[in-house]
Amino acid sequence: NLSHPASTAPENGQIITRFGADFLVETADAELLRCTARRKLDHLACGDYVQWERQAQGNAAITAMLPRRNVLERPDFRGRLRPIAANIDLLIVVASWQPAPIWETLDRYLIAANRLPADVLLVFNKADLRQSLASAEAETCLAEYQRIGIPILHVSAKQQQGIHPILEAIQGRTAIVVGQSGVGKSSLAMQLLPETDIRVGTISETGEGRHTTTSATLYRLPSGGSLIDSPGVRDFGLTGMDFATLETGFPEFRPFLGECRFHNCTHNHEPNCAIKAAVAAGQLPPRRFARYLSLLANI
Ligand code: GDP
Ligand code: ZN
Repeated sequence: NLSHPASTAPENGQIITRFGADFLVETADAELLRCTARRKLDHLACGDYVQWERQAQGNAAITAMLPRRNVLERPDFRGRLRPIAANIDLLIVVASWQPAPIWETLDRYLIAANRLPADVLLVFNKADLRQSLASAEAETCLAEYQRIGIPILHVSAKQQQGIHPILEAIQGRTAIVVGQSGVGKSSLAMQLLPETDIRVGTISETGEGRHTTTSATLYRLPSGGSLIDSPGVRDFGLTGMDFATLETGFPEFRPFLGECRFHNCTHNHEPNCAIKAAVAAGQLPPRRFARYLSLLANI
């Protein structure tokens, strides 16, 4: 078959989503191609850069994975870590006023972003409920995040307010949305994603139009950048967190770390701890520190 040589030179592409054992790959020409992959490439994830080749009968196959910048993983039902998405630049952490923010969970997401590493954007959705539902305590916790330099946006998916600054933050980056259930991630995705996901839907297994798989899907935004929507990643936690991951996940500690008396200080019971001294002196936010101690007790 002259129009389909048995195999061609490998070309580069990026994984858009997974359909069972197959992958949807975006080629360098922005064409979407359904590709098979050998079993040893089973760990491929949405966002991975790959090499692929055309094969006989017009089929295409992924032949290699290109180096990853990072990968977000989550344990499956057997407790094995499975990749969800790769090459993430920005972790968009969504919280809301109803359900109320769980600050320790937000800290965990910030630690995860730090570990990837990826930038973080904290999006407080349901801004329409803030005045009536945000407690003074919650506002103080929020102010602590602001103080340590976490970028925060207040938006309302319902009232379609504050969406544009999120799109601006995604420009030139690959972002993924996480957050506890009920905070409005799906509602936000509806506002952020292009009208329809026709391109992905028409190539899905069922051909039913809407892409109904639970695997992560990468969307190119018309305003620039890419957004990975992943039902599976939405409630992920931090498994196997070690002390170094925890400590570096509190970047506000950094200027004081060298000053603790013990080089391996955990900032808990040790004497002459510079972190505790800074908290006592009002140089570090006390609620963040209290949650640090609580997370420390869990590892
Ligand atoms: P998810 O579980 O994070 O995907 O949350 P959903 O997008 O399913 O939203 C959960 C609930 O919050 C739904 O009833 C939404 O209508 C509601 N919701 C989403 N965004 C807003 C908002 O900006 N304001 C208010 N008041 N409700 C919202
Ligand atoms: Zn210390």
